[in-house]
Amino acid sequence: MKRKTRKILAWISFLLFPVTLNFFSPYVSVDGAMQGIVSGSLIVFGIMLVSGLVFGRAWCSYVCPWAAPSEYLSLVNAKAVNRKKLRIIRYAIFGIWFSVIVLSFILAGGIRGIDPLHLTESGISVDDPMKFITYYMVILILFLTTVLLGRRGACHSICWMSPFLVLGMWIGEKLHFPQFKVRSEQEKCISCQKCNSVCPMSIDVQSEVSAGKIASHDCILCGNCVDTCPRKVLKIKIRRP
Ligand code: SF4
Ligand code: SF4
Ligand code: SF4
Repeated sequence: MKRKTRKILAWISFLLFPVTLNFFSPYVSVDGAMQGIVSGSLIVFGIMLVSGLVFGRAWCSYVCPWAAPSEYLSLVNAKAVNRKKLRIIRYAIFGIWFSVIVLSFILAGGIRGIDPLHLTESGISVDDPMKFITYYMVILILFLTTVLLGRRGACHSICWMSPFLVLGMWIGEKLHFPQFKVRSEQEKCISCQKCNSVCPMSIDVQSEVSAGKIASHDCILCGNCVDTCPRKVLKIKIRRP
């Protein structure tokens, strides 16, 4: 798929965020779990996990509502982030939140039903002017973490959704599923580091080139490095088992 198409899809997803907000909401999942209900957001997180089996973290480039704004905010702060440190915060947030969901289901007596429209009866998340307060608060938190921390700062530090994609990716690797990855031809690389400068996920792409593929679970398959490489070292390919 052309990069332009990717950007168009990402912006459409952002424009639809007032409609889809609840389907990405960590709160809706917990509220549903407390009543033994599998809510729409929990279903979406399950879909993310399954998509990770083959498509890795492409969701973060094509589907996530925060994909497009986070990319453009690098015009404000393009600093590479410390991925390892921020990962600790992200997984701590995820661990606490997911434990609350599991505990809530246990206290509710297990799964008692599935309701994709739980807390979204009209099908539209922001269907009342007051709900715009929640919407703008979410946007503000994502905006501030991205602008203050650097390239895709919110993705690295507070995203509660990316662990589902990473888990799917990891399971796909263990089960030898065909997976989309950035593949490299090491012998053509001239170590110019242009790929590093355009990677929105602050990956040291050049160092990973020698391994024959970008193995990092932070790679979102955006294709920026592929387009920038002057020697055509990199390609996004699916590896067949
Ligand atoms: S890391 Fe999270 S916020 Fe960032 S693009 Fe992926 S799913 Fe969206
Ligand atoms: S390694 Fe390449 S494809 Fe992966 S996130 Fe970085 S620039 Fe995008
Ligand atoms: S842009 Fe291409 S040639 Fe330059 S370091 Fe990266 S992979 Fe190597």
